[in-house]
Amino acid sequence: MEFKLSEEQELFVAGVRELMTRENWEAYFAECDDKHEYPIRWVKELADLGIDTMTLPEEHGGMGADMVTLAAIWEELGRHGAPTYVLFHLPGFNTILHWGTQEQIDKIFEYRGTGKQMWNSAITEPSAGSDVGSLKTTYQRRDGKIYLNGQKCFITSAANSPFLVVMARDADAEGAVYSEFFVDMSKPGIKMNKLDKLGLRMDSCCELSFDNVELEEKDFFGEEGNGFNRVKEEFDAERWLVACTNYGVALCAFEDAAKYANQRVQFGETIGRTQLIQEKFAHMSMKLNAMKNMIFEAAWKCDNGNMTSGDSAMCKYFCANMAFEVVDDAMQVLGGIGVTGHRVGRFWRDLRVDRLSGGSDEMQILTLGREVLKRYR
Ligand SMILES: Cc1cc2nc3c(=O)[nH]c(=O)nc-3n(C[C@H](O)[C@H](O)[C@H](O)COP(=O)(O)OP(=O)(O)OC[C@H]3O[C@@H](n4cnc5c(N)ncnc54)[C@H](O)[C@@H]3O)c2cc1C
Repeated sequence: MEFKLSEEQELFVAGVRELMTRENWEAYFAECDDKHEYPIRWVKELADLGIDTMTLPEEHGGMGADMVTLAAIWEELGRHGAPTYVLFHLPGFNTILHWGTQEQIDKIFEYRGTGKQMWNSAITEPSAGSDVGSLKTTYQRRDGKIYLNGQKCFITSAANSPFLVVMARDADAEGAVYSEFFVDMSKPGIKMNKLDKLGLRMDSCCELSFDNVELEEKDFFGEEGNGFNRVKEEFDAERWLVACTNYGVALCAFEDAAKYANQRVQFGETIGRTQLIQEKFAHMSMKLNAMKNMIFEAAWKCDNGNMTSGDSAMCKYFCANMAFEVVDDAMQVLGGIGVTGHRVGRFWRDLRVDRLSGGSDEMQILTLGREVLKRYR
């Protein structure tokens, strides 16, 4: 078993480290978080390094990078306090390439190298959260056109994305037929309301309504009726990526707190010399180690074609919760500084949201529990 990155992977990591240490990005991230703004300048710099399309096959202009490489990059970005959660749309290039029509691929690939947000999936509705099978948004064919009607909520990146892939139910089908549409967000009949979020504030989160939005047959995304199968694949990748993000910021908080504990003097000695503080670091480092091993093992499985939904559910649940505990402990070590504008406060808010978004803690537990028991049937 090899726990070492390859030379090529080390070069990737060194490239992002150089970017992250070139300037004081933290001031920029804090400002973007405060103003609820997407950190376009930073994402553009990553795109300039080719990170936006690094997992695309070389014949499509990417680098053919694997998931282990992606995990190593996310770890390095996270440890420098970067909001890797805003990068979730980037693996979207692969999804479009896999499922999109040539016209849809061309529209999205125009955004390569720009750092701009381009698309996201819109599934959740006011009455269909965890229970995605109870979607009410419909599509209906009429006079050679297709009309989309319904509401969506909690849709990430919707405020800045020119396209959304929207899941809807066939209004005329006898059974439940769920399909997806590649929707140009400038079409008439679409209304949007931006929601205020506790964390993950550098990306938008919106409610949407679709009122007789006119679409055509060419706007189907993937095969008609295959909506749920397609998003299942996307969920697995997204959940694993959320886990990478969670681990990265936990590492950052841990290192900030460790440096502080070694220099903050109270009662005549550094607080790092007291056993209560040492105990926190022992627990934090065990949690970080477990997160890292779990994420890299799942990445390796993904690269070898055998990552399961249970693996990604395990990563998402474990890392969201362990990272939250690590950041909470780091905040305690930092004392008053931790709750008055330090970046750990931002991580703490972000991680709290991640225990719900992209599938709640409870849904991850159910997915994993079902899968584990199936192996022994
Ligand atoms: C910030 C944010 C961003 C999001 N981005 C997107 C996006 O881009 N696209 C998209 O389509 N969706 C998105 N979502 C939706 C997200 O995936 C759902 O919010 C999530 O699945 C939970 O749905 P809900 O909030 O309606 O909660 P509900 O499903 O109503 O659940 C409420 C609580 O009950 C629990 N619960 C529900 N059913 C059970 C059960 N059977 N057993 C035990 N507990 C249960 C849940 O775990 C949760 O704790 C986002 C959500 C958030 C908060």
